[in-house]
Amino acid sequence: MSQEEKNFETIAVRQQTQRSHNREHSVPIYATSSFTFEDADHANALFSDEVEGNIYSRYSNPNNDEFIDKLVSLEGAEAGIATSSGMAAMFLSIASFVSQGDHIVASRSLFGSTHQILTQLLPKWGVSHTYVDIHDLEGFDKAVQPNTKMIFIETPSNPALDIIDIEALAKIANKHGVLLNVDNCFATPYLQNPIKLGAHIVTHSATKFIDGQGRVLAGAILGQKETLEKVKFMSRHTGPALSPFHGWILSKSLETLSVRMDRHCESAHTVAKALEEMEEVELVKYPFLPSHPHYELAKKQMRLGGALVSFEVKGGVEAGKKFWNSLKMISKSSNLGDTRTIATHPASTTHSKLSEEERLAVGITPGLIRISVGLEHVDDIIADIKQALKA
Ligand SMILES: *Cc1c(COP(=O)(O)O)cnc(C)c1O
Repeated sequence: MSQEEKNFETIAVRQQTQRSHNREHSVPIYATSSFTFEDADHANALFSDEVEGNIYSRYSNPNNDEFIDKLVSLEGAEAGIATSSGMAAMFLSIASFVSQGDHIVASRSLFGSTHQILTQLLPKWGVSHTYVDIHDLEGFDKAVQPNTKMIFIETPSNPALDIIDIEALAKIANKHGVLLNVDNCFATPYLQNPIKLGAHIVTHSATKFIDGQGRVLAGAILGQKETLEKVKFMSRHTGPALSPFHGWILSKSLETLSVRMDRHCESAHTVAKALEEMEEVELVKYPFLPSHPHYELAKKQMRLGGALVSFEVKGGVEAGKKFWNSLKMISKSSNLGDTRTIATHPASTTHSKLSEEERLAVGITPGLIRISVGLEHVDDIIADIKQALKA
């Protein structure tokens, strides 16, 4: 039975690096920087890509291979590469495909460091970009120029949780012969598979739900074999390799991804519904609430609504801050995708350097709170939110 015929949960548990002569049940950690060759011919065949095999852990390592091979199967890709952080994945997945004079079209609603890559770093090498409003599908079509190489998006977006139609965007990308690169961090491969909807590249911060336990930094880039060759070349020679120890942790994490995401999403949906009933709350954004502006699309594109809920506290910035300061159990952090529920107040933290107009352009209203719903009992999560809203 090929991997494609098996179900998500089975692949996540059973896809495994070949057992050693020790017949281990669980894969050991290959804490080795390098690998040995049988003889000169074997070394030559490995270096000229005539045979597959490990040479050096900056290129490949059995633990990282197991992690990435699982992700390749789970996303419906052909090839992939693991990186030392999500940002290493974002940077490689863009930089591998652009040269001086090229152009990128991107959704304006992006993770902060991805925004910095596009606006501060790539211009140093003569690569420009155009931002498009996430609600403006036609805008992506219009923004493509003769020198455009890639369309880059996140969906659901951070922190406003807007949804963009991946299939429609893939058609636009194909019409112009450019790559569609989707940061699938918020959804994980369990909720959404952009490649199956036509995207050419999928990127992940595995630091979030893929690890899901707040332990390690990692990233991944997935796509067709030919597309990934350029990324692999750049990774091999610039060195953002994942540690084998982290590859081992993440392969284990994938074994429980579906179980964790089922619970994360069920609790997030319950929290979102409870928030809609609270009088201190102005507006709740959750992709699987019928009140969400892209509810139908979310239902079509995602298996479940995700683990993030955003809401607006009545009373603006000060009310948002006061709510945040009054939380007793829920962690105050800018991270997401942990077993622990985390609340973020973007206007006073992650996005405080932006002007009010810039914040509003990406859906960050003054009292906006983003909750990454964890694996505690949902009643305890709601109780903490309630008492902080009353405070
Ligand atoms: C966290 C995050 C990243 C960056 O990942 P790191 O592992 O922190 O480097 C990129 N994109 C999104 C959507 C994220 O949430």
